[in-house]
Amino acid sequence: MAERMLKFVTVSRQTPQKRDAEERRGDFHEVYADFIDAKAREQASRCSQCGIPFCQTHCPLHNNIPDWLRMTAEGRLQEAYELASATSTMPEVCGRICPQDRLCEGACVIEQSGWGTVTIGSVERYITDKAWENGWVQPIKPVRERRESIGVVGAGPAGLAAAEILRGHGYKVVVYDRYDRAGGLMIYGIPSFKLEKEVVERRSQRLAEGGVEFRLGFEVGRDATLADLRARHDALLIATGVYKARDLIAPGVGSAGVAAALDYLIASNKAGLGDAVPAYESGELDAQGKDVVVVGGGDTAMDCVRTAIRQGAKSVTCLYRRDRANMPGSMREVANAEEEGVVFEWLAAPRAVLGDASGVTGVRAARMRLGPPDASGRQAPEEVEGADFELPAQLVIKALGFDPEDLPTLFAEPALKVSRWGTIRVDMKTQMTNLDGVFAAGDIVRGASLVVWGIRDGMDAAASIHGYIQAKAATPALAAAE
Ligand SMILES: Cc1cc2nc3c(=O)[nH]c(=O)nc-3n(C[C@H](O)[C@H](O)[C@H](O)COP(=O)(O)OP(=O)(O)OC[C@H]3O[C@@H](n4cnc5c(N)ncnc54)[C@H](O)[C@@H]3O)c2cc1C
Ligand code: SF4
Repeated sequence: MAERMLKFVTVSRQTPQKRDAEERRGDFHEVYADFIDAKAREQASRCSQCGIPFCQTHCPLHNNIPDWLRMTAEGRLQEAYELASATSTMPEVCGRICPQDRLCEGACVIEQSGWGTVTIGSVERYITDKAWENGWVQPIKPVRERRESIGVVGAGPAGLAAAEILRGHGYKVVVYDRYDRAGGLMIYGIPSFKLEKEVVERRSQRLAEGGVEFRLGFEVGRDATLADLRARHDALLIATGVYKARDLIAPGVGSAGVAAALDYLIASNKAGLGDAVPAYESGELDAQGKDVVVVGGGDTAMDCVRTAIRQGAKSVTCLYRRDRANMPGSMREVANAEEEGVVFEWLAAPRAVLGDASGVTGVRAARMRLGPPDASGRQAPEEVEGADFELPAQLVIKALGFDPEDLPTLFAEPALKVSRWGTIRVDMKTQMTNLDGVFAAGDIVRGASLVVWGIRDGMDAAASIHGYIQAKAATPALAAAE
C-alpha cells in the first residue's frame, strides 16, 4: 500500500482543471472540468492514510475517506464508489458543493502540515460520476415490500435522502413538494455553475423508478393540513427547509428593481431549465445590461453576483458590512466571483435605495468599521461618520439570509413545538417532534445550513422512522390503538 500512497511529498495538490474566468462568464456550466482518470488516481495517492483520519471526523457524513482514496489510487473505482455511497445518498453532489475548506479538506493532516490538502471533494465527485457513466449506480430494490406508508414533506436533500433509505427498507414512500420539480434548493436555489441540474434530476429519477411516489405542486398548508397527512401515513417527515427571506430595512427598499435573492435565483434556474418565466423575460429579474448591487455576504449572495455576471450585467458589486475575513460565504466562491469580475465593497452597508419614477437608480451606502466584539464574540460593525458613498444600480438584490416560516400556523397544527427562531424542535436522538410519529430534518431543524447536513439528517431520520415503525409493529397493543 505504502508504494501507492503517501505521495504528497512528491506530488503537489491539483484540482481538476478550472475553466478560464472569461469563458465561465458566458455560460452556466460548472466551473471545474472532470478529473482525467490518471489525475484522479495520482491525486488520491497523496493521502497519508492517517491512523486517526480527521477528514472523516470533520465530514458530517463520516465518509470513509482514506479507504476510498486508497481504492481510487489503486484503480478499484467500483469498490471506491460502493464505499462512498454506503455513507451518502449523493456523494457526487457533496463532492461538488460542500465547502470542503471548512469540512473534510480543512481538517486533512497534510493540509495542516503545509503540504496542501488531498482534493477529497473532487475525487468523491469523480468516482461517483464514473459510477453513473459505467452503470454501477444500482436501482433501488427493497428486500421486501412493507405495508406501512411514510409521508415526506419536502423534496430537498433531507427529504430525498430519507426517501431513499425508507424505500430501500420497503416502505411505501410519498414525497410532497410545493415546487414542480424535486430537489429543493439544489434545483431552484443553487445555480448550475456550481451544480448542474442533470446531476440532481438523475437522483430524483432513480427514486421515482425505485417506487418513491412524488406529489409535486402539493403545498402542505394549502392542499392538506398536517393532520390530514398524519391520517394518511404511518409516520411523517417534515423537511421543508427555511424560506422566509430576511428583509432589508432602508428607505426606498420597496422600489421597482429591488428583488429578493431567491426570487432572482429561481427565475434564473427556471429559465435555464427551459421554463417560461415572465418576470425574467420582461427583464425585471434579468441583470443584462444593468448595474447590479447585491447586499449580503453568504453563499446566496455569491450565487447572485455570479449569476448576474453570467446574465451580462454592466457591473456587479457586493456590499457586505464586515470584512473579507469575517464573511460567512465560502472563500472558494469569493475567489471565483472576483476572478469573474465581481467587485466587493467590504465594510459597507446600504443606507438607502435611491430611485425615481422608473425604479431603482442606485444605493447609498455607509462605510463601516469593526468595533469591539459583541455578546457572540464577533466584532460588531459600526458606521464611520461622513464616509457615505453612492453606487449606480438598476437592480438591487437582497441576500440577507432566511428564517423558517411559521409552520404551526401554516400547517394548521398549533401543537407542533418550534424554537423561538421558528425551527422545529426535535428529540436530538430520534429527530421526532413532540407529535407522535412526526419527525423533522434538515434546515427546518438546524436553520439555514448545508446540503451535506440535510443528507445526514435525512438518513438519520429515516433510521429513526424505521425503528419507530418496527417498535410499533412489535407492540400490537400500540398498533391497535391507532
Ligand atoms: C442560494 C443558495 C445557495 C446555497 N449553496 C450551497 C452550497 O454551495 N453548498 C451547500 O452545502 N449548501 C448550500 N446552500 C444550502 C442548502 O441548499 C440547504 O442547506 C439545503 O438545501 C437544505 O436542505 P433541506 O432538504 O432541509 O431543504 P430544501 O433544500 O430547502 O428543501 C425543502 C423543500 O421543501 C419544500 N417545501 C417547503 N414548504 C413546503 C410545504 N408547505 N409543502 C410542500 N413542500 C414544501 C420546498 O419546496 C423544498 O423543495 C445554499 C442555499 C441557498 C439558498
Ligand atoms: S461529504 Fe462533504 S465533507 Fe464529507 S467527504 Fe464529501 S465533500 Fe468532504
